[in-house]
Amino acid sequence: MPEVTKGNPYHYPQSNLALPSEISETVFTKNEMTSSRKIIGMALALLLAHAMVIFMLGDSPIGPALSDSIQLLLGGLALLSCMRASRYSDRLGSHFWQLAVVAYSIWVVAQGVGTLGNFIPYPDYVRGLINLLFCFWFGPLAMALFLDPEHEPKGIDLLLILDFVQGTIFCLAAYLYFFYVPSLSEASTDLAHSVWAPYFFGYGLLAAAFLVRSFFTNSVVVRKLFGRMGIFLVCSVSTDALYYYGPGAALKTGAWFDLLWSGLLVAPICVAATWHTQDAASPDDNIAPLHTRGLIVTQLVPLLYPLLILVMFTRIAEARITLAAAVVLVSFLCSSTRLLITHQRLLQAQEALRKEATHDGLTGLWNRVAIVDILQRELLRSGRNGSTTGVILADVDRFKFVNDTHGHAAGDAVLCDMANELTTAVRPYDSVGRYGGEEFLIVAPGCSLEETWELAERVRNSVANRSTSGQVHKLAMTLSLGFVAGGPESEIESLLHAADEALYLAKRSGRNRVEPQLAFPRLTTA
Ligand code: GH3
Ligand code: MG
Ligand code: MG
Repeated sequence: MPEVTKGNPYHYPQSNLALPSEISETVFTKNEMTSSRKIIGMALALLLAHAMVIFMLGDSPIGPALSDSIQLLLGGLALLSCMRASRYSDRLGSHFWQLAVVAYSIWVVAQGVGTLGNFIPYPDYVRGLINLLFCFWFGPLAMALFLDPEHEPKGIDLLLILDFVQGTIFCLAAYLYFFYVPSLSEASTDLAHSVWAPYFFGYGLLAAAFLVRSFFTNSVVVRKLFGRMGIFLVCSVSTDALYYYGPGAALKTGAWFDLLWSGLLVAPICVAATWHTQDAASPDDNIAPLHTRGLIVTQLVPLLYPLLILVMFTRIAEARITLAAAVVLVSFLCSSTRLLITHQRLLQAQEALRKEATHDGLTGLWNRVAIVDILQRELLRSGRNGSTTGVILADVDRFKFVNDTHGHAAGDAVLCDMANELTTAVRPYDSVGRYGGEEFLIVAPGCSLEETWELAERVRNSVANRSTSGQVHKLAMTLSLGFVAGGPESEIESLLHAADEALYLAKRSGRNRVEPQLAFPRLTTA
């Protein structure tokens, strides 16, 4: 480890400590298996080499440089295995490993520049920069907390970008708090001793956040990835604690303690090398019921950052009020935008649910419950103006034949086509609903029985005479229709029953016909 960091490059989270038994669940092809064995083999060989360097060279002049270089190689290997894991994963798994790739890239840059520091003396600001990268390289990985498998949108979500900005501001505020402000008085680039308590507290909190999310989630991928990430964080922070307060306190780079940190690099390499999301993903991931408590916990996480930024604000403000104000302002803007977007999505979801509850999924017409509700309302309304409401039940003739000869998809297309035709044929204030499979119910307010008949005839005609040129299957279809008219005193069930009887008569009389309710005097022209 470069002298400059005087601490664990792994200060912070990294993903996954996998147990061999869990890894064995994954199903790789032979080639994939060989390449993952090679990666693990290389990682173990580097760990062994590191042990030999430490025990043979110790903290002789070349020892620390070699020790740092081996860790750099391990970091590079971690980077490669994360890239590979993201290729073999989909959805959340893939996003998680992409974030890990960004995080390890930062770590590798910091370690690379730090390793060079064994040979080139750096000015203070470079040492400060390396420290900053080492302290917050995990930032992108912490973003994984915001990934939401239950509502994963396609592509990068605006909320994730906002959370990312918020996370970056948090890192900046933490840097100002931990390094910049103390350095104004102490001229030090190391973590001031006084900040170790909040450091451990912060990381404990982060580990808890991952473990809590893994506990409350419905998703197998999240449970596995976040659970391991949480365990890893606990190990990483415990190693830090041992370094600063335990047996590592008096040790320098190149001493045996470095092996623990290398171990913390090998563990995620093993997990990434053997990760295979397809096997971890359960078919239930998409259909499991929403876990409300889990969702609330997930939503608490984005609130944590602005809260911590506010906590740090006071101390930064003592040193530089404008800087502190700017940090808080940007954080506030992110939080407010997040709130607005969440609110707008909630309204959209509410609207979508309302539509889903009242509309038929295939044709977009009112569904059975909604059209019967409309009928009920119109019957009551007709009582006020002394009119009646027309009720037409229409059934597609020989529809089963379409399904049987052209397939179910063609049947669906015909139903949609019928729905369009009916909606166009009726008056703007009439309502059309899908009453059953290939049955439609038309509610015509203010129509007497004769007017309803007229309307039903118009509908029948428009379907029977419609052009088939625009249709995929060019099927000429007809409708049979039965109708009634009712007022406020009519019972819905008996009206619908009477319309159904009339429809049945239309079918028996040869189809492509309109028939009034049975008690109505028959006309010869129907
Ligand atoms: P009729 O002239 O006597 O009404 O004969 P029909 O073939 O239209 O009537 P039947 O009741 O025998 O068949 C209706 C068919 O409609 C049976 C069912 O499989 C089909 N069906 C119901 N809902 C749907 C749907 O959403 N899509 C498709 N493609 N077919 C459906
Ligand atoms: Mg039919
Ligand atoms: Mg039918």
